[in-house]
Amino acid sequence: MPARRKPFKACRKCRALVDKNATECPHCGSRDLTEDWEGIIIVIDPENSEIAKILGFTKPGRYAIKVT
Ligand SMILES: [Zn+2]
Repeated sequence: MPARRKPFKACRKCRALVDKNATECPHCGSRDLTEDWEGIIIVIDPENSEIAKILGFTKPGRYAIKVT
């Protein structure tokens, strides 16, 4: 069985997860996208999410917990 490829790429700058066909991050405009990431966190309400505050996510969306 071939390894399944991830459906998303992560932005190295803000850690947002973007479609793997995307060429730039819709959150910060960075083109530094990578498939080398681990863990997904979904932020719905960053104002009231302690995790989002700790990790520094200020907009709702999908983010990678770790980007290498
Ligand atoms: Zn970004």
